[in-house]
Amino acid sequence: MADEQDLERKFKDQCAVFGVYGHPEAAHLTYLGLYALQHRGQESSGIVTSDGSSHCIEIGMGLVQDIFNQDKLALLRGDMAIGHNRYSTTGESHLKNAQPLAVDYSLGSLAIAHNGNLVNAVQVRSMLEASGSIFRSTMDTEVIIHLIAKAESNNFVSRVVEALLQIQGAYSLMLLTEQEMVAVRDPHGFRPLAIGRLDNAYVFASETCAFDLIGAKYVRDVEPGEMVVVSPDGLKSFFPFPKKTAAQCVFEFVYFARPDSTVFGESVYSIRKQMGMALAKEQPVEADLVIAVPDSGVPASLGYAEESKIKYDIGLIRNHYVGRTFIEPSQQIRHFGVKIKLNPVRQLIEGKRVVVVDDSIVRGTTCRKIIEMIRGAGAKEVHMRISSPPTTSPCFYGIDTPTRGELIASSKSVEEIRKYLGCETLAYLNRERMLAIFGANKEKFCTACFNGQYPVTMPGMDILQPDLFESVS
Ligand code: 5GP
Ligand code: SF4
Ligand code: MG
Repeated sequence: MADEQDLERKFKDQCAVFGVYGHPEAAHLTYLGLYALQHRGQESSGIVTSDGSSHCIEIGMGLVQDIFNQDKLALLRGDMAIGHNRYSTTGESHLKNAQPLAVDYSLGSLAIAHNGNLVNAVQVRSMLEASGSIFRSTMDTEVIIHLIAKAESNNFVSRVVEALLQIQGAYSLMLLTEQEMVAVRDPHGFRPLAIGRLDNAYVFASETCAFDLIGAKYVRDVEPGEMVVVSPDGLKSFFPFPKKTAAQCVFEFVYFARPDSTVFGESVYSIRKQMGMALAKEQPVEADLVIAVPDSGVPASLGYAEESKIKYDIGLIRNHYVGRTFIEPSQQIRHFGVKIKLNPVRQLIEGKRVVVVDDSIVRGTTCRKIIEMIRGAGAKEVHMRISSPPTTSPCFYGIDTPTRGELIASSKSVEEIRKYLGCETLAYLNRERMLAIFGANKEKFCTACFNGQYPVTMPGMDILQPDLFESVS
């Protein structure tokens, strides 16, 4: 049996799911959906289709555009498809961990695509292994397949319910058999999942930006704890799990989702901009210029500038062609990793008091280098403004964050962080202020990475923590 801690380190996902039911170009549409959702995962992608009697599978490592081509898509027959993009750190890039996971079992063919992180996967896997199950990946998602295969009911949907009742944590899932598609969100609703229509077809996606690309209409979200089944009989909705308090991931609005998406029924762009406005109200400063750390800090910095009436301009230019690795000259260039991605506009910054807005500080290393670059470009003062609260605690629900010890705000005060970063002032958006933006829905969010209040706990949570994330935003 694999070492528990080792398994836990690999149990992480930061992914996208997509599904189409009832469209002759299901594979092509899924390819486009995954293309629009590339920001949620760049390690591997896969599509599984069904023509009503059997599955076709295409999975590969790398970006969507590199994995699929006309020939491969032509082989993906059928008018039903599910797809997945996966994110993980470099060490764990492996085809065996790519999704959708597709298997054959007693009831036929089954494929599954998962966004989220199951907190009791280690325990369930140990139990399954003790009774003879053999696992082929290190993914938490695989336990769901085994639980479905072992379930007692003769009916597929009942089997899925039976399996998920044994699972705790975050899951937005797409499942595909030969004839049915199931979309389900865990009872807390940690991760998003939206339903759309394209002609007579049903479509599902982690974010609505995928619907926009294929011309589908956003209808509504799959609700927390809801299971949507699409079959030749049409769409049916069930709430088979005990009701829990909603704990939708607020970090989707801070950093993760694309600003042009609607997530949990809210416009990501609008929320992000309001975060910047709230920050300006709460943490004003006298300055000449507001600039953003692109791309993630842009909407909030526009909000900050609008509210504070300080001029906004593009002070940092991002190179959009940077891949995951680059060859560094043997003569080391200072801050090479950040400089290859971002460069300040000296003509704009020189002699100015600059407000720099970013969405979050994780380890503080990038932020520190950015501040040094801005100073190097002649800024008179640098005022750092962060449009979310200090990130003090790691995530266990599908966002890949560093361990607690590596989160700078877990052990340092704001003043200590300011000194480390080397800016004149540093201020964050207060948690209550952030939640107030959601009005009547403000109780429906998980904010554990900001206050350590975990909606779902697991044994040994303090020591079993997800590993570092790849710092390419
Ligand atoms: P730091 O200064 O802490 O090294 O890096 C902060 C930057 O990391 C921010 O610009 C923020 O947008 C980005 N960031 C925040 N969360 C994540 C994440 O989960 N993954 C990645 N790749 N970047 C993140
Ligand atoms: Fe989202 Fe943070 Fe909760 Fe994780 S801990 S689900 S990142 S809000
Ligand atoms: Mg960023």
